[in-house]
Amino acid sequence: MFPARFDYFRPQTLEEALGLLQEHQGEAKVLAGGMSLIPLMKLRVAKPARLIDIGRLSGLDGIEARDGELAIGALARHAPLEESPLVREAVPLMADAAGVIGDTQVRNWGTIGGALAEADPAGDWGPVVLALNARLRCLSARGERFIAAREFFRDAYATALASDELVTQVLVPGPGPGATGAYLKLERKAGDFAIAGVAVQLAVDEQGVCREIGIGLGAVGLTPIKAVQAEAILRGQRLSEATLADAAEAAAREAEPVSDIRGSAAFKRDLVRALLRRAIEIALRRSRGEQVEAGHV
Ligand SMILES: Cc1cc2nc3c(=O)[nH]c(=O)nc-3n(C[C@H](O)[C@H](O)[C@H](O)COP(=O)(O)OP(=O)(O)OC[C@H]3O[C@@H](n4cnc5c(N)ncnc54)[C@H](O)[C@@H]3O)c2cc1C
Repeated sequence: MFPARFDYFRPQTLEEALGLLQEHQGEAKVLAGGMSLIPLMKLRVAKPARLIDIGRLSGLDGIEARDGELAIGALARHAPLEESPLVREAVPLMADAAGVIGDTQVRNWGTIGGALAEADPAGDWGPVVLALNARLRCLSARGERFIAAREFFRDAYATALASDELVTQVLVPGPGPGATGAYLKLERKAGDFAIAGVAVQLAVDEQGVCREIGIGLGAVGLTPIKAVQAEAILRGQRLSEATLADAAEAAAREAEPVSDIRGSAAFKRDLVRALLRRAIEIALRRSRGEQVEAGHV
């Protein structure tokens, strides 16, 4: 359980970190909270020759409303995201998700940027950023680019990031009037990754018509899945029993689960149906001003 030998760098500035990443491209890995990378290095599944520790860089852990967006630094850890009044008020599904990630240690050390870059198919942040139509700000010594969450996840543990690139911010569009959401996950035991997770962000007008809808599914495919067909069924419609049933059915079809130790594929499709219905119900109650717990089922 000892990692292979590696050179360790702790840059003092973002520019220095980007320079090191460029210089050691292909041989270096970034270390943020270390919650995923360190165990993999100990198992020697990951054997980077150089480790660039960005975990203590200043200015990359902010959570602020800016230019109509919520700008979240890549080094923001899960626990502050769960507790942030701004996050709880503007995008409660992010607080829901942050609160059900792993255990206390994981939530205190793990970062949102690290979790997204890790792209674990069962990770909780993937479905949330898809439901919210978030963008990731990515930087390298070559310059800056923005990647839509929908374009970011390429395969299990694979993203659109180049090997010299860092995620520096998660940019969440400011919620429209009355928009709110919920994230729900079922796991086998507390602290476990999801058997399935569903993120919903919606806005419903005074006539009960769904004006805005985003749905992300987690742990039911090689990547998190944006349930675009379920979204299309709900968008512009009254949320009647029949419409909700159709949307739940569509989301279950869009899911691509496999049978594994966490459950059969059929069970996971059933979960998607049930979690979507329940997450929408919670979001609707929240939109009426009710305080409703979510996160764990
Ligand atoms: C026991 C346990 C339980 C867990 N349970 C859950 C769970 O229920 N749900 C869940 O979602 N997650 C879970 N996790 C994972 C957790 O969320 C980690 O925090 C996260 O996956 C990685 O974040 P990190 O900051 O620790 O990244 P690190 O481990 O430091 O890095 C992970 C990967 O991302 C890269 N990286 C890190 N930061 C950046 C960046 N800014 N830009 C580009 N690349 C970067 C690294 O090079 C590495 O490849 C669990 C982890 C453990 C150990």
